[in-house]
Amino acid sequence: MSLEDQDHRALWHPFTPMRHWLAETPLVIDRAEGNELIDIHGNRYLDGVASLWVNVHGHRHPHINAAIAAQLDRVSHTTLLGLASTPSIVLAEALISRAPPGLARVFFSDSGSAAVEVALKIAFQYQQLRNMTRRTKFLALTDAYHGDTLGSVSVGGIDVFHRIFHPLLFQTLRAPPEIVALEKTIERHVDELCAVVLEPLVQGAAGIRLMPPGLLAAAARLCRRHGLLLIADEVATGFGRTGTLFACEQEGVTPDLLACAKGLSGGYLPLSATLATEEVFSTFLGAPHDRLTFFHGHSFAGNPLACAAAIASLELFDRERTLENLPAKIAALQTELARKVAPLPHVAEVRQKGVMVGIELRRDRTTPFAPQDAIGARVCQLVRKRGVILRPLGPVVVLMPPLSIRPDEITRLVDATAAAITEATTPVSTNGPIWSPGPGKRGAVRQPQPRGLFVCGTDTAVGKTVVAAALLRLALRRGFQPTPYKPVETGCASDPADAMALRHAAQRQEIPIATVCPYAFGPPVAPAAAAALAGVTLTLSALVSAARAAAAAGDFQVCEAAGGLLSPYSATMTGADLAAALGLPVLLVSRNSLGTINHTALALGEIRRRNLPFMGILLVDTTADAKPDREQNAALIEALTGVAPLGVLPFQRSLDPDALADALVAHVAVERLFSEI
Ligand SMILES: *Cc1c(COP(=O)(O)O)cnc(C)c1O
Repeated sequence: MSLEDQDHRALWHPFTPMRHWLAETPLVIDRAEGNELIDIHGNRYLDGVASLWVNVHGHRHPHINAAIAAQLDRVSHTTLLGLASTPSIVLAEALISRAPPGLARVFFSDSGSAAVEVALKIAFQYQQLRNMTRRTKFLALTDAYHGDTLGSVSVGGIDVFHRIFHPLLFQTLRAPPEIVALEKTIERHVDELCAVVLEPLVQGAAGIRLMPPGLLAAAARLCRRHGLLLIADEVATGFGRTGTLFACEQEGVTPDLLACAKGLSGGYLPLSATLATEEVFSTFLGAPHDRLTFFHGHSFAGNPLACAAAIASLELFDRERTLENLPAKIAALQTELARKVAPLPHVAEVRQKGVMVGIELRRDRTTPFAPQDAIGARVCQLVRKRGVILRPLGPVVVLMPPLSIRPDEITRLVDATAAAITEATTPVSTNGPIWSPGPGKRGAVRQPQPRGLFVCGTDTAVGKTVVAAALLRLALRRGFQPTPYKPVETGCASDPADAMALRHAAQRQEIPIATVCPYAFGPPVAPAAAAALAGVTLTLSALVSAARAAAAAGDFQVCEAAGGLLSPYSATMTGADLAAALGLPVLLVSRNSLGTINHTALALGEIRRRNLPFMGILLVDTTADAKPDREQNAALIEALTGVAPLGVLPFQRSLDPDALADALVAHVAVERLFSEI
């Protein structure tokens, strides 16, 4: 049973509509490198939301890994109840020295929700200990999110998450995020209020909403004036996400309690902290029988491995000058978004603070998308094909890259997001041909992609036609109406032999061969050269139109490109341009012989550089004789590129399509070819 199936059998995923989950093949992450996640099939994805807003310096950073490993050799866990531990002490000191001035005590826990829960309970007990016994309520902002435990849900205000639990929650007062309204609500309820809790500068889960400038400072002033505590929930904003280490710094605010979590350990291990001022802390000082103790503590509070990771993460802020390098990245992200995303017709607003970005999508100027459109989820699904992982908040597409994102990765992130938004918001015709024949007119509605594959090689004579024929026959067996497309064939004595073989494999004799292969040339030279000799100039629009016409006869197109990926079709167009224009996932066929590792890695580099949708690598034995290098090639390609080839197709004596299809099934992970398209 595959891991995907086992996930479906055994897991219940957080914040996930499970029926929908069970209907789709899950993406299973196996490892990571830098800012990229790698799935069990070797596909790489840019971690565009920092593994749900936690990762800071990239994955598998040697410094953090080494710190965790070193701690592992000392002790993995000891308790903070009645005992102290080295890493928690070092980390507490490091946090206090970097936090807004005045925060002097660190209470450790193990999640953001717990850190907020702790802050709420400390604030409540603080007022009780000061004999302000009527001050029992919290004031929170509308649409706030503070976590998923019952206390943090009680101060949360996102209706879809929290509605069902209402009977279980304590009563919370609410104000919209406006200075005047906040002031009025505080003044009206001052006698019953114990604290104000808010996410400084940015409300994260509400959809990356930017708070009005000055709101945080005003809240701090009002709290001080009226004897309330201010709780800053920096779980999302902490550790550089807004451009400064903590968001509170930007309005010169020291809250009475500050909750942090997500980025605290660099996003490596579960760890959270609630920082308190000495004033708050000292209220709890007394003899055991004074009942001043704060009775709260988690088994894994201040876990030494997690603290070691957090210390290393803070060290990296210095060593790598993480915050100093951030303004240029934030500016680049802003420029790219303004150029490529903001002008898209369905983008209502692009909101950004630091590296926190929310792209709000709207059906048109006046109407939002309906929840059942699941527009954010669709964009995030489509962006995966382009090698990026995102997770939406309703109709808001969120980008929250690790602080370690590189300039080229910023471009990749924004390009892929813009393309996915365009694809998700392009009207889809539900009947008629999958692709309309004829050249694409400017401003015309783009037709949806047909299913299929773009089979291209690392070189000529690598076994592409054998693979394409096998795929067509396999598609036929699976109930598709396969359509072959061979844009250009050279070296044709009379009829294009490869195109004929493909048509035969697809059992589509009724399709004219000129539809399968619009351009057949005699000389065995590159397409651009053959076309030039014939006095023809091949254009991208002609090849795309012909592809559309060919695809209209069925529902699964196998396009076999000419030669290698960068084989020229004209002076300015290569196979990679055609792959990009057709949008079909690229299946890269490599000859399993000496030299293939270099060829494959180079071709893959180009596929990545151009962000082409990518299906995988398939190695083909093109001769019957045993070669000494064959055994090693797949493993070396995987080690070098991070992509495990889908399989090795052994040399095929018979070119009978059924025999080829059987061989493909026997030696290659074909399931993916059909499930992921
Ligand atoms: C994520 C988040 C939390 C909850 O943190 P968990 O570690 O998921 O429990 C609390 N507050 C804010 C602002 C958050 O973004």
